[in-house]
Amino acid sequence: MQATRKTQAERASRSLTVLVPCWNEEESLPRLFERLDGLRRNETRPIRYSFLFVDDGSKDSSQSLIRAYAATRPYAHYMFLSRNFGKEQAMFAGIEHVNTDGLVIIDADLQDPPELIGQMADLWMQGYEDVYARRRSRQGEKWFKKASSHAYYALLQKIASVEVQQDTGDFRLLDRKCVQALQQLRESERNAKALFSWIGFRKIEFLYDRDVRAAGKTKWGFAKLCRLALDGITSFTTAPLRIATWLGVGVSLASAAYAVAIAVKRLTTGIDVPGYASTMVVMLLLGGIQLLSLGIMGEYIARIFNQTKGRPNYLIEEDDIGTSQSSLPHR
Ligand code: UDP
Ligand code: MG
Repeated sequence: MQATRKTQAERASRSLTVLVPCWNEEESLPRLFERLDGLRRNETRPIRYSFLFVDDGSKDSSQSLIRAYAATRPYAHYMFLSRNFGKEQAMFAGIEHVNTDGLVIIDADLQDPPELIGQMADLWMQGYEDVYARRRSRQGEKWFKKASSHAYYALLQKIASVEVQQDTGDFRLLDRKCVQALQQLRESERNAKALFSWIGFRKIEFLYDRDVRAAGKTKWGFAKLCRLALDGITSFTTAPLRIATWLGVGVSLASAAYAVAIAVKRLTTGIDVPGYASTMVVMLLLGGIQLLSLGIMGEYIARIFNQTKGRPNYLIEEDDIGTSQSSLPHR
């Protein structure tokens, strides 16, 4: 009797990988390790945790800290990428090597409290397949970052064909189904947030208070954030290509009307004013619009270019999960 109950319990228990992308996080890692161990120790739900650290080419002592941590814990694993590929690629490197019932993505800086994973898992066990944590507050973040992020998501929501989750980072619990869906994606520039929305499945939000960074500085400079924003738009939608078309149509119509107006004026008043100002305005306007359209097309062409090169999205330098080769077959 006892034995059957145990196997039943084991069968009912779920395996859950906690995926941590890290880049130069030596100051946060010791505290993160403690809290992850605590999470595992205090868990009363039928969950078997494992931890996967994907080091995104750290230059500090992060890698040796992770190596030492994993060496004494059978449930902790790591992958070190050969250089800094960016958080998106680091996450996907992890996603592609996970084979558990569920996956949680969490930042290394403890801004996403690991203790909430249990509550997210409750929703997961109720049948939700993508439990995404939505920030109720963003402590310690500058107003500019909050405002620009808000405006960006509002814009994206308008032009994208799938629903985008606002105020949502990468902190989320994905069911195996979602993970397998993400593993099938072949694009070379993968914007995680866009793809989490795109795959669909049963989603539910989970409100939380985002803490301040435990230590160190944010790894996202202004330029990196702009890059991410542009990537989000171009990987989500081709609407900007249409903007170029509509701008062209609008300007052509306006020019035609203006031409008629000039002709009428010439016929009625007889004398034409030297049109320096208007010529300049039209030239500059047209030049601007042409450059904008070219830029938009360039963005998409660059993506085609990157895709056709067919390079692997990241390279693994060292790991303890058995991929042990310096490169992966590209996807
Ligand atoms: N990160 C990464 N590669 C990068 C940038 C960031 O793996 O190129 C990791 C970083 O170590 C952290 C997470 O991504 O675990 C989020 O980064 P950060 O805290 O700097 O972003 P923020 O919270 O300011 O948005
Ligand atoms: Mg952070």
